[in-house]
Amino acid sequence: MAQAVKRLFPGTKLGIGPAIEDGFYYDFDSSYKFTPEDLAKIEEEMQRIVKEDFPFIREEIPKKEAVKLFQDLGEDFKLELLKEIPEEKVTVYRSGEFVDLCRGPHIESTGKVKAFKLLSLAGAYWHGIETNPMLQRIYGTSFFTHKELENYLQKLEEAKRRDHRKLGKELEFFSLHEEAGAGLVFYHPKGAILRTIIEDYEKKEHLKRGYQLVITPHILRSDIWMRSGHYSYYKENMYIFQIDQQEFAVKPMNCPGHILIYKSKIRSYRELPLRFFELGSVYRHEKTGVLHGLLRVRGFTQDDAHIFCSEEQLVEEIKGVIDFVLQTMKVFGFTEYEIELSTRPLKSIGTDQEWERAEGALKKALHEKNLNYKINPGEGAFYGPKIDIKLKDALKRTWQCATIQCDFALPERFDLTYASPDGSLKRPIMLHRVILGSMERFLGTLLEHYAGALPLWLAPLQVIIIPIAERFLPYAEKIKQRLLEEDLRVEVDLREEKMEYKIRQAQLNKIPYMLVVGEREVETNTVSVRERKKGNLGQLSLEDFIQRIKKEIAERG
Ligand code: ZN
Repeated sequence: MAQAVKRLFPGTKLGIGPAIEDGFYYDFDSSYKFTPEDLAKIEEEMQRIVKEDFPFIREEIPKKEAVKLFQDLGEDFKLELLKEIPEEKVTVYRSGEFVDLCRGPHIESTGKVKAFKLLSLAGAYWHGIETNPMLQRIYGTSFFTHKELENYLQKLEEAKRRDHRKLGKELEFFSLHEEAGAGLVFYHPKGAILRTIIEDYEKKEHLKRGYQLVITPHILRSDIWMRSGHYSYYKENMYIFQIDQQEFAVKPMNCPGHILIYKSKIRSYRELPLRFFELGSVYRHEKTGVLHGLLRVRGFTQDDAHIFCSEEQLVEEIKGVIDFVLQTMKVFGFTEYEIELSTRPLKSIGTDQEWERAEGALKKALHEKNLNYKINPGEGAFYGPKIDIKLKDALKRTWQCATIQCDFALPERFDLTYASPDGSLKRPIMLHRVILGSMERFLGTLLEHYAGALPLWLAPLQVIIIPIAERFLPYAEKIKQRLLEEDLRVEVDLREEKMEYKIRQAQLNKIPYMLVVGEREVETNTVSVRERKKGNLGQLSLEDFIQRIKKEIAERG
């Protein structure tokens, strides 16, 4: 693609062009602004290059020589990249007249390229830093066969239809406002109701499992963040500010708050395990380039808990969390998942021995639960290794949600203790864990998984009553009152529109039940029921309808 672009648009400078999941991109610097129509032209040129069947030739050359090469080509960005490479020798790849700085490996020749398609254009800052020049990124994908490419493109179309940013807007769930700051979510009434339903459910489930609810402040003095290690290991992601000569930080994590509650009194072994749960809102500075709808944001709320326990209790506690996660996923309609175990990163606190014990406990719990997992070397949190449970949605895409982190380090840093049976002071271990993860991301996941048609128990509006003429309004209102008494979420469509139009609108808004009422319904004290997927269900007495819908909610349909 880069070769084709250089042929068609001489003078274009090359940024970087890596392979990514499901495809690749390349960043270009050009005074010319690429249009979607150009993508077709570039594809044609790519076909030509494929036909020309240039071998990819790898050359290992001294860095000095590479600098000269890319200087002569005017490839300023490549020169910058060269500066960042510590090795004395670098590799370049040639295909025909084209040459690029590349680690490789490559396929044998351009002729081996089979099915490909250029997908989209986007702006991207050089190195993802906002003060750097904005480059033009072209995304594409490639497969071994046209059939595979076709399937992939179909899946993309379906994903577009389900995009939570599109659905969130159409269904009026949430909005983001650049003027208020990127990556900050505003919940509209429907989104707020959905989130409340999820939060209420979670609070109940946590209490059932022996967790205690806590609430901690959104800002804490920097001293706390220094002690926790966030200041040294996480500062670039934190919002820090000064008031009255004191420095504060908006919390990026809830852990220190829960630790302070633990430390507020002397703890005994009898109290362990102590499980503190908080729907904790946190703020993290993410680069603008990675922000994405509800999936990557700067302000979000975690269903966060910290479990303080003894070493003997550790594996059982981890197993308990795993059960909790899998049960919760099922309730929300997810039955497939992937599990990953992430180990010690370069920037981290704690001793090797602590890391080994922590990883050992996580592994043991997974084995005892008979769960398969994959290892992500170096991907753990700075204070401990973690298990990630990623769920798979209706399109088989994976979404990050639950994590369980095992931590020996923070109890050490904050000098946490409990009195053991013999009276001596011991150090508890801390588990950090989220079940759904970020409420924002989970909401996005739910919207895409269900393509906006949320199950009845989660639907912000469960029933809409459609009177076929104005004179049936009092009856519609009466029904509404009756349903409200049953804690159902219901509205009357008061608009002066035709019944068919209102039904179509309700259908578009993915409202589970429509109750049409007219002369016949008033006389017989019934409702004509339409379900969004099954269509007309006929006339039911109001009480029968209530029974039906309550049963469906109880079964979490
Ligand atoms: Zn934590």
